[in-house]
Amino acid sequence: MNVLHDALRESLGALALGLLDDEEKRAVLHHADACPECSAELDDFLELAALLRPAPMPAAGSTPSRPEMSTTSE
Ligand SMILES: [Zn+2]
Repeated sequence: MNVLHDALRESLGALALGLLDDEEKRAVLHHADACPECSAELDDFLELAALLRPAPMPAAGSTPSRPEMSTTSE
């Protein structure tokens, strides 16, 4: 049994969602590199994450211009 495996396995989902910092990410990826089980699971999580995070909208740069509701009374 591998304690590291269990610990990092729980981080696979967070990694796929981009929630880990660089150090954690490196540790998980390093383990997944040597662990087919985690590697396969990470692939699943990445697929899920891709589904959860829709592709950026084409018009992401343009912010909807919303008229200000505040009326300036002088
Ligand atoms: Zn593992």
